[in-house]
Amino acid sequence: MANNKLAQVDAKELAAAREYIKSLKNPNCKEDDVFFQAMEEVLLSIAPLYLSDPVYKENAIVRRLITPDRIIKFKVEWLDRNNEMQVNTGYRVQFNNALGPYKGGLRFHPSVNEGILKFLGFEQILKNALTGLPIGGGKGGSDFDPKGKTDFEVMSFCSAFMKELHKYIGPRIDVPAGDIGVGAREIGYLFGEYKKITSTYEGVLTGKPFFFGGSLMRPEATGYGVIYFTEKMLELEGREDLKGKVCTISGSGNVALHAIEKLYQIGAVPVTCSDSKGTIYDPRGVDLALLKELKFEKRTSLESYVDQHAEAVYIPVSEYPKGGHAVWSYPCYAAFPCATQNELTEVDAKALVKNGCVSISEGANMPSTLEATQYILKSDLCFAPAKAANAGGVAVSALEMSQNAQMMRWSFEKVDAKLKDIMIHICTNVAQTAEDYGVKGNYVDGANIAGFKRVADAMIAEGI
Ligand code: NDP
Repeated sequence: MANNKLAQVDAKELAAAREYIKSLKNPNCKEDDVFFQAMEEVLLSIAPLYLSDPVYKENAIVRRLITPDRIIKFKVEWLDRNNEMQVNTGYRVQFNNALGPYKGGLRFHPSVNEGILKFLGFEQILKNALTGLPIGGGKGGSDFDPKGKTDFEVMSFCSAFMKELHKYIGPRIDVPAGDIGVGAREIGYLFGEYKKITSTYEGVLTGKPFFFGGSLMRPEATGYGVIYFTEKMLELEGREDLKGKVCTISGSGNVALHAIEKLYQIGAVPVTCSDSKGTIYDPRGVDLALLKELKFEKRTSLESYVDQHAEAVYIPVSEYPKGGHAVWSYPCYAAFPCATQNELTEVDAKALVKNGCVSISEGANMPSTLEATQYILKSDLCFAPAKAANAGGVAVSALEMSQNAQMMRWSFEKVDAKLKDIMIHICTNVAQTAEDYGVKGNYVDGANIAGFKRVADAMIAEGI
């Protein structure tokens, strides 16, 4: 289905573009690997556009786009339950505000470092551009691990984190939201601290609980949005819809569980989910209420799922296929990686193709490795890349900003309808862009080109 547009570009110029990307990398900095992986994919996608229109070169757009406006790094000192002092590192990468205030989540996870946040911030610029809404790109977080911490410890950490972060954010400057490890609880504590320090009650964070300024549907938005996007993509590509189809999903956090919820609502059969310790396969369809109880209420591992469902199987990480992930070894019509980056490898992509999978939609950020993506693009599968497919979360965050600015609250139905419109618009825009640039069916190139064009044109118009 996906043609390879790169073949149309002069081979010499493409080689020069590749060399250029390589030259930007500091080989001693392993942390930057994911950032360069994301950048390489984008730069190779946009090469034909960049090379065919001199305006981008004249304005040094690539060099300017891949360099964050600023990276803020700070110490976070907090007290644990034993009154002992703990120290973590906090970050905010304010990447690009050509289209609006910096916007992107905060991630609290031990793996967080500057490279990961640069990768996520860079992807966020193009994702936010695709929504058509006035939001720039940013990302932040900390190597703090909320797992196993008491509410008091999470509050203590969030207060300390905000004591630094508040200096750099504001409703028209930078509006963080949640991401891995940052849900409504963390956003609540962060918002409370911001309010105390600044004595202002304003929409400086999104993903707030509804009862103090959040938008209805924000928790559901990313997961639901992935499914809306997939349905439209299947329609545009002349494939059968998801009704009655077996689907596999990885993850069991906010994105995964809401994708599962929407799949049930449209009559599909989601049969897997996973966490960092293992995978559940339940051929009759996963028990969503039990998953919510285990992951949202008890914050525990999935292992105990099988205590209540004898027909289900639990596969611990130690028993995963070599170089792969158990979730993707099960036959399915559509696959939804919704856990974390690089969780779908070339081994997994081959297993999915072999088992007759028709579509892959990325709910997580960059869940497919570069090799997996390249393999999938050469196959007959429909492939929805993260920056287009999971843009529903940030889109509803922007709707939350609108509601806060107007001091208004919209109904669930109104936000859901707007989300659906936005996802359908992103999907048709991406598909049309791919067609316009001679790569019909290649949603990776379509998304990269459409997102890049919107940001680059704004950067050029705004000057330096
Ligand atoms: P959560 O923290 O709610 O959930 C993350 C889930 O992924 C957890 O179930 C976690 O398991 C699991 N996980 C983490 N690492 C691995 C791993 N190595 N293998 C398998 N499972 C793993 O995060 P979200 O659902 O919010 O985010 C998931 C992805 O979606 C991330 O890539 C995020 O950047 C992206 N995203 C999120 C948006 C949102 O609105 N929340 C918006 C757009 C993108 P465990 O419980 O064991 O930790």
